[in-house]
Amino acid sequence: MEKLRVSDACIGCGLCVAQNEKYFEFNDEGFSKVKQEDVEENDKEELLNIVESCPAQAITIEEEK
Ligand code: SF4
Repeated sequence: MEKLRVSDACIGCGLCVAQNEKYFEFNDEGFSKVKQEDVEENDKEELLNIVESCPAQAITIEEEK
């Protein structure tokens, strides 16, 4: 299953958390962190839109290694 990742490039704009609270949440510093890393097939298209929208290109979806 593919895995959702947020890198430390995140600038804490809040967009991803605002758009999807199933997969994203804020950490104690106000940056985004992954709440659910397993990408469900039904959610993938929506997540790819969020990946595209992130101003810091901090979000990726990776094949599990
Ligand atoms: S959209 Fe990108 S920069 Fe904004 S909070 Fe999410 S990961 Fe961070």
